[in-house]
Amino acid sequence: MPNLDPTHLARREVRELKGYNAGLSSEQVSKRFGVTRITKLGSNENPHGPSPQVAAALSKALMDSGLYPDASCTLLRGALAGQLDIAPERLVFGNGSEDLIAILCRVFLDHGDSLVTITPAFGLHTLYPHSLGAHIHSVPLLDGGRFDIDGLLEALVEPPRVLMFSSPSNPAGSALSAAQLDQLLNALTPSTLLVFDEAYYEYAKTSPDYPDVLAQLAHQQSPWIVLRTFSKAYALAGLRIGYGIVSSPALADLIDRLRTPFNVNRLAQVAAVAALQDTTHLETSLELTTSERSRVAQALKDMGLTVVPSLANFLFFETTQPSEQVHEALLAHGVIVKPWLEPGYTHWVRVSIGSREENDQFLAALAASMPH
Ligand SMILES: *Cc1c(COP(=O)(O)O)cnc(C)c1O
Repeated sequence: MPNLDPTHLARREVRELKGYNAGLSSEQVSKRFGVTRITKLGSNENPHGPSPQVAAALSKALMDSGLYPDASCTLLRGALAGQLDIAPERLVFGNGSEDLIAILCRVFLDHGDSLVTITPAFGLHTLYPHSLGAHIHSVPLLDGGRFDIDGLLEALVEPPRVLMFSSPSNPAGSALSAAQLDQLLNALTPSTLLVFDEAYYEYAKTSPDYPDVLAQLAHQQSPWIVLRTFSKAYALAGLRIGYGIVSSPALADLIDRLRTPFNVNRLAQVAAVAALQDTTHLETSLELTTSERSRVAQALKDMGLTVVPSLANFLFFETTQPSEQVHEALLAHGVIVKPWLEPGYTHWVRVSIGSREENDQFLAALAASMPH
């Protein structure tokens, strides 16, 4: 009897795994609902697009596509090291920062090792650890999306191998304060690697309340990595490039051992260098998004909904119906959002901040789908 299904051969952790929920693409929604105008606010993409300088640089580089990329991202490394005022050896690059999350998990987490994180959380912060058989301890956020510092400190008493979370957090959008970060840093020992996912750094840093995480880490006596990405504020999600700033070159060396040699493609490297240089485009994009964020948050509150104060390019709000139902109702209007499915948050929806028109389309669709 032929059996072409190899599921029984897969590792137990993989058999148990639920795949990452990447959401629907515009193509899928348009096919399913027959709507042509799609407003995609489910993946925290940047509606303002990359710098025009990226297009110019890419068109010049396009015909070099037959060449392998520079395996050490030399030009980008130099440009970023200069901008961050950091030694080039303290940078690592990935095929998106998610690539770095996966590599870090493979480097540090063995079967039975423990990882502390928060919930609700970015799916990959638990998916990869789970796939390796790590024991995951998730500390829930408090009301209003605040980090539960006491809960996290308690989870650190028995030092986990890895402490990983994002701040601003995804999906909540809330961030640690400088004092809270200090408390966490004081509790860490060299037995734990801190993975501080700062994917929304550029949006957050425009707020006076947001701490200078790298400055606070400068004196830390235990290992850490700060993850950032070109996907969000720089609008290069489709090219896949992210980076990490590490506490010492020794951590970069460990990551190098397990990454694929050409993990960052040639065009992504070229685009990232061009994007870094166009600070005017970045500033404009950040201003548009942060002002729209206030407007959309206010509109949601005016509808009587609870919204978490956000330092990122999205809002997390509580709905009157199950989020899956809201999601479906909005899809019929051509609006894609991210319904949260984690236990305890099944009435919560994450919506990305789009252009003014997209946000209006979302708000109108939401108003139309709410019970009157
Ligand atoms: C979007 C996001 C990332 C992934 O970014 P890529 O660089 O596109 O892989 C990582 N962490 C968090 C918390 C995110 O929201």
